[in-house]
Amino acid sequence: MSTAEVTAPAALPNSLARAAVHSFVHTTGAWVASQLEACTRCGICAQACHFYEATGNPEFAPVWKVELLRRAYEQRFTVGGKLKLALGVEKRISDADIEHWSTIVYEACTLCNKCAMVCPMGIQLGPLIHDVREAMAEAGVVPADLLVAVRKQEELGSPLGVTDDAWADRIEWIADEWEVEIPIDVKGAETLVAFTSIELMKFPENIVAIAKILNAAGEKWTISSPGREVVNFGVFEGNPDRVKLFMGRLFDAARALGVKRLVVTECGHAYDLLRWTAHNMAEVPCAVTHIVAVIDELMRSGRIKLRAGAFDEGGTLTFHDACKIQRRGGHIQEPRDILKVLAPTAFKELALNREASMCCGGGGGVIAIKEADALRHKVFELKIRQMEEVGATRVAMTCANCRLQFTESLQHFGSPIKAVGLAHMVAEALSEEE
Ligand code: SF4
Ligand code: SF4
Repeated sequence: MSTAEVTAPAALPNSLARAAVHSFVHTTGAWVASQLEACTRCGICAQACHFYEATGNPEFAPVWKVELLRRAYEQRFTVGGKLKLALGVEKRISDADIEHWSTIVYEACTLCNKCAMVCPMGIQLGPLIHDVREAMAEAGVVPADLLVAVRKQEELGSPLGVTDDAWADRIEWIADEWEVEIPIDVKGAETLVAFTSIELMKFPENIVAIAKILNAAGEKWTISSPGREVVNFGVFEGNPDRVKLFMGRLFDAARALGVKRLVVTECGHAYDLLRWTAHNMAEVPCAVTHIVAVIDELMRSGRIKLRAGAFDEGGTLTFHDACKIQRRGGHIQEPRDILKVLAPTAFKELALNREASMCCGGGGGVIAIKEADALRHKVFELKIRQMEEVGATRVAMTCANCRLQFTESLQHFGSPIKAVGLAHMVAEALSEEE
């Protein structure tokens, strides 16, 4: 058989571009058009983006990340865009453009939406960049590493490839090793807790901590084997069908168990999706909240008691606000109220804090893409500088994905600063006293 006979036919020229433009056009309605029309090209959003700040690369400016969406909109729907094409001022979107922007929107954007905060026109750049990712997914130019994780979640139920049996073994091991009760598939429980694979495999002590806190409070809670993964790689990919599939597993589990609320543990994008976006995509069967809100509520109501000042020793402790749990999720005050009890003297805010906090640089699926490692580390240098400015020896947080980025990047730079989970600190400070 000749080589010619076995070679797959070459892709039609600009077939990637056609698929992406189809998605852009499909996406563009009044809302997207009004956002694009409102942009004055002032460039202010650039300074808010940690990728631009860390590198000075103009292609990482948020407004440039939505450039293809703008071009598709103008060339298809506006007289000015058609004229620019006719006069040769602008070109049609090509396959090369699609491949190039795939790198920009997947490797150099965490979908943190900080840029929207500074835009004088209030343009929601994060969701627009997510629309660009959807077009990239449609064109089939999702980074290979991200796609592997997506497929693992689809086929095995976990982006890290944890099978049903491996999950059950791991939970059993965690319960035995730390001697903590972890209820599984309990019908009639009030609270369904959904963990991330990151917690399961990298930070098992977080599962132990949350179990200890809920048990100490006497909460009727459970985890679910069919609804065991809270992370949603469909969001990172930009594939609405997969978003619904992964979300559906959780909601079906909540329905089957009859719980009153779903508690998202430490995943920012999952919280954003399940707490807010889900309502426009599916029927949400129960209340959705974040574990930091639950812990705060248990502390306030006296259902758990904490040793005041338990973390005051050990140098300055600071807090990293996660984009999707604090800025987008609104859980800004709860961690501070908890830290006021745990470390009233040692706690010190970063200069950029609360809504203005800078993203860790590993969200939006970026940490899953090997090719993005060098850029991800470069971005994290900004975070290290911020922590060094306040003399931090420890940094607390409420997102396991952030914690993975902090832990790995601090190690990469040989920094002595320690990243700690807030739930873990709370569990350590649980007091037996009534
Ligand atoms: S800050 Fe807003 S208006 Fe200015 S370039 Fe960025 S998106 Fe456009
Ligand atoms: S969403 Fe975040 S990472 Fe993406 S362009 Fe805006 S500021 Fe940068």
